Amino acid sequence: MSTEQCDFLIIGAGIAGASAAARLAEHGSVVLLERESQPGYHATGRSAATWEPSYGPHSVRKLILASEKFLRNPPDGYGDGASFLSPRGFMATFRADQKEEMEQEFEDIRPTSPDVRILNQQESLDRVPILDPAYVSASLYSDLAQDIDVHRLHQSYLQIIKTNGGTLTVNADVTAISRCAAGGDWFVETPKVGSFCAPILVNAGGAWCDEIAQLAGIDAIGLEPRRRNAVLIPGPEDYDVSDWPMLGGSDPGFYFKPDAGRLMVSPEDAIPSPPCDARPDEMDIAIAIDRFETATTMTVRRPEHSWAGLRSFVADEMLVAGFDPDPTNSGFFWLTGQGGFGIETSPAISLIASCMIRGLEFPQIVADFGLDATDLAPGRLMES
Ligand SMILES: Cc1cc2nc3c(=O)[nH]c(=O)nc-3n(C[C@H](O)[C@H](O)[C@H](O)COP(=O)(O)OP(=O)(O)OC[C@H]3O[C@@H](n4cnc5c(N)ncnc54)[C@H](O)[C@@H]3O)c2cc1C
Repeated sequence: MSTEQCDFLIIGAGIAGASAAARLAEHGSVVLLERESQPGYHATGRSAATWEPSYGPHSVRKLILASEKFLRNPPDGYGDGASFLSPRGFMATFRADQKEEMEQEFEDIRPTSPDVRILNQQESLDRVPILDPAYVSASLYSDLAQDIDVHRLHQSYLQIIKTNGGTLTVNADVTAISRCAAGGDWFVETPKVGSFCAPILVNAGGAWCDEIAQLAGIDAIGLEPRRRNAVLIPGPEDYDVSDWPMLGGSDPGFYFKPDAGRLMVSPEDAIPSPPCDARPDEMDIAIAIDRFETATTMTVRRPEHSWAGLRSFVADEMLVAGFDPDPTNSGFFWLTGQGGFGIETSPAISLIASCMIRGLEFPQIVADFGLDATDLAPGRLMES
């Protein structure tokens, strides 16, 4: 089989690889390699599809905020120009014994959700009438959280690659990575679709990023995939759920949100797992339903569909974007650690990756939110 040469070779066509490939395709030849027969099969196709500016560590929130403008007003060529966001809102519920926790959370989210307000029990029930008064005592509410049209966003990244002459190659399971010559181009082999050669190799393989690095003889960065389960249940017969906010509770954690007339429920679990095609666990789905039933007056008789996906984190739970710090690995770029925020951060992190890969300054529109390259550098995870 022949060897295809390009400027930028990217492994993994989830949201991380697709968004970086779209940015790079405007500046050189791009090949995006995906092991599955369709892109988005793993974490990207299994998310809760939410943009929430007060979610995750504070450093991640900066990337979420830096992505908002792109998602709200997509640049020319991305989709049909319509926003990828639509209003949802977020409500964090608290029991009577969680007053202190609610006060702490209020202070924690106020900088990124300045509209946050406290709803008393009745106001909480007015907003989501299935809540059980025996469970909820008060809640925090913000209008800022949005639904993301993940499929359209992912497809628009893939379309930009095509428009700029790049290619997406599916069934491309990368099984060997070497150098053409010492310090030369990266040489990547797949059993079914041939081999590829490029000076820049982007490792955007989601849960598999450490395994991909090891194929290239590069040290792992300690990525930990964690499985999260979710289940779709019928909405209540008496209410139209479409304008309900996403709703969460803690200790034990759970969340639910409207999804086309139904409710998506998750136990907010994070169970360490090897990289794999994650499957829902019956016991974890039962836990999700139990937590939902505890917080509401509903009884779930017929769950419709359940699934699980891997959210992959590094030690500090911030994303990773940068060249491997070992000079013998020049041209090997890490794009990983998307955790539970890979969709909502994809505009900012892909712009950062594209600038770094092309040797440009850290993008000012992200720096304006208080981030720089050191916050994302893979080297921060390798210092012992
Ligand atoms: C239940 C759940 C809820 C979530 N909710 C949200 C949310 O509301 N908002 C949000 O922003 N994020 C959310 N996330 C997180 C988000 O889904 C992930 O952060 C994101 O999809 C990760 O994208 P990725 O491209 O890094 O990984 P993936 O989508 O997993 O893509 C990696 C790709 O690399 C490919 N690959 C791996 N190894 C190889 C190889 N050797 N050769 C070729 N290809 C390879 C894989 O096949 C895969 O397609 C959620 C995740 C889950 C599971």
